[in-house]
Amino acid sequence: MSVFLFLERIYINLSKIKIKIDFLMELSYNIVMICNDCPRKCGVDRSKQKGFCGEGEQIKIAKIIENFMWEEPCISGEKGALAIFFSGCNLRCEFCQNYQISHFSKGEEYTPKEFLALLKRYDLSKFSCIDLITPTHFTSKIIEALEGQKFPIPIVWNSSGYENIDLLPKLAEVVDVFMPDFKYFSNELSQKFSKAEDYFEVASKCIIKMRELKHKNIFTEGILQSGLLIRHLALPGQIRDSYKILDFIKEKIENPFISLMSQFTPCNNCSIKRGLNPLEYKALLNHAQKLGLSEGYFQDFSSADEKFIPNF
Ligand code: SF4
Repeated sequence: MSVFLFLERIYINLSKIKIKIDFLMELSYNIVMICNDCPRKCGVDRSKQKGFCGEGEQIKIAKIIENFMWEEPCISGEKGALAIFFSGCNLRCEFCQNYQISHFSKGEEYTPKEFLALLKRYDLSKFSCIDLITPTHFTSKIIEALEGQKFPIPIVWNSSGYENIDLLPKLAEVVDVFMPDFKYFSNELSQKFSKAEDYFEVASKCIIKMRELKHKNIFTEGILQSGLLIRHLALPGQIRDSYKILDFIKEKIENPFISLMSQFTPCNNCSIKRGLNPLEYKALLNHAQKLGLSEGYFQDFSSADEKFIPNF
């Protein structure tokens, strides 16, 4: 046997092994969906068992609102967003305004293909953006649905910031705007309200990564086409925690673009029984001003009203 033939045979054998390994990997991926979509890393096969988020293996949508106007002006614009509210949540905060859908799994299931077909059924020129609301626990399925697709309007990842950081680079290829809510600095608070003691540790790294992946904010006619908008909902009685979040943003995030929200409304069985008071909110705005965080939005105090909570 010549050396050439020998090498060729090794090559063929190796390529067969590779095909076999690829085939097995694909097979196992298709048969078993071990979920690592978020930092809880429950490691469950969602086709058989539910993890913390309470959702199965397919994308589940609780409600779609067309021309949704209740986001920041650079998100809603004049046309409003195509707002897609996903069912379930990987944080399930005790005070969640959308608890009807985040705590009780309610909605319709879509495979990634069906989800893409659903988006394509809309005349997207009628909206400012596609607003994916609380999508984190469906990250891998949404990436699968949107991979390689082009949309005429931006896709906004409207999340809690509690993400699997390893999935962010892939996610950044399919979404245009990251809009995380940076919720807590204190581990005690995040454990108490969201059962996520590591929230700050995880979310702070994710938000830094999001800035790295979408390093510049790009606007067209006032609509954020690409970039990062960091939200923070001030909690009644926890203004010092809010200060620390703002301090961190100032220190660690390049060109911060923020949205401070005063809309906290006690609901469900929440242990916080009151809304934010005007003095607390004013103090927070003063702190932001002192830090020079001037790019972004400050919510009108009158937004703290049940009429601004969508009825699911
Ligand atoms: S997405 Fe759900 S099942 Fe998956 S790791 Fe997070 S909480 Fe667990």
